[in-house]
Amino acid sequence: MSADHPKPEELGEEDLVDYEEEDEAPTEKPTENGKDTTKKGTYVGIHSAGFKDFLLKPELLRAIQDCGFEHPSEVQHECIPQAILGMDVLCQAKSGMGKTAVFTLAVLQQIEPIDGDVSCVILGHTRELAYQIAHEFERFAKYLPNIRSAVIYGGVPVRQHKDLLSSNPPHIIVGTPGRIKDLINQKILNISKVKFFVLDECDKVLEELDMRRDVQQIFKETPHEKQVMMFTATLSKEMRVVSKKFMQSPMEVFVDDETKLTLHGLLQYFVKLQENGKNRKMTDILDALEFNQVVIFVKSVPRAIELNKLLIECNFPSIDIHSGIRQEERIKRYKAFKDFQKRILVATDIFGRGIDIERVNIVINYDMPSSPDSYLHRVGRAGRFGTKGLAISFVSSEPDSEVLQGVQSRFEVAISELPNEVDQASYMTA
Ligand code: ADP
Repeated sequence: MSADHPKPEELGEEDLVDYEEEDEAPTEKPTENGKDTTKKGTYVGIHSAGFKDFLLKPELLRAIQDCGFEHPSEVQHECIPQAILGMDVLCQAKSGMGKTAVFTLAVLQQIEPIDGDVSCVILGHTRELAYQIAHEFERFAKYLPNIRSAVIYGGVPVRQHKDLLSSNPPHIIVGTPGRIKDLINQKILNISKVKFFVLDECDKVLEELDMRRDVQQIFKETPHEKQVMMFTATLSKEMRVVSKKFMQSPMEVFVDDETKLTLHGLLQYFVKLQENGKNRKMTDILDALEFNQVVIFVKSVPRAIELNKLLIECNFPSIDIHSGIRQEERIKRYKAFKDFQKRILVATDIFGRGIDIERVNIVINYDMPSSPDSYLHRVGRAGRFGTKGLAISFVSSEPDSEVLQGVQSRFEVAISELPNEVDQASYMTA
């Protein structure tokens, strides 16, 4: 960035107003039919962002709420933002981490049902799995009455499937490969209009050679242009290669447990300063450092608005996103940032947790997050996908120092004071 920006004090800026983000209230455990469905360390912890951050259709958000899901799981957090944009996805995460909801939501979010056309085929290796997936579709499509799904597997007379497909043709078909292939061969089922192709437990489906052959045959009947998503609990190197043959540069997500979202490859520093020195330091840093895109986290909506205003006044290409902005406008701004029209994003946790933007290589905690978990969550994205990154945290109070301490011990990292000069090569990918 150029160095000719007026300093904030020249603009007569006061400290940013201090209010808490209204959506930051402590969250309760998800329940389903009154039962506690929380899986320890899986749906809570670092993923205390809400599903609404994914910018899903209101009908889906309502259904998610009815299911008692309050926080996306690790794998949902990692996959949903890209999956709903139509990217191919290859995802490995242990059982029970909520993989089913990833593709169910991604399909329901994007599908434009045309009566008579099958838009989506989902294959699993067992009937039980197919049934379970179909059930998940029913739950999430509760408020989308125009979208019909059906489950199709062997052991049921073919006639029954024939009747189903002709009388009430579904848009989404979930099933086992054998019967689906038979129905295609008998010209009872036409999948030439498919836009989404999903394999659940893909290693199991592709490992067995007979099943793999069926899948290949089914796959060939679908159009070239489509989104392919594959999910599995385990994935050998060999199966990974096989799986990827069905996909076009998929996003690959491998989640062992929540600490997988590591701080590896990320350069981390803190700056000790007074609250009233933050604006000055912020503009100094933005002037001094080279970056692709920066996300600056603040702790409240008014602070996001004020800081963004200040940065714009200082001629920085900044934009803000937070829960104070209408959904439509939020998507517009999100896209603008993603499309590189703006290079600095001022965000509250509420939005920040839902985003994944590859070009972001610096995260600045203008306000220290309230816990090590949310620190990990904010800065985790700066070093994603094997890219390098830089995280700088402003520490201006005792509680801020405690969080910093907590981060260092919990994630076994040493965070040192920001030096006068940071080697560009250490956080910018060449
Ligand atoms: P996987 O496919 O990874 O084995 P599932 O999709 O079957 O996991 O999910 C396991 C269980 O957890 C299901 O009962 C599902 O409804 C529930 N679940 C999934 N996502 C969430 C969430 N975000 N919050 C609460 N429960 C969830």
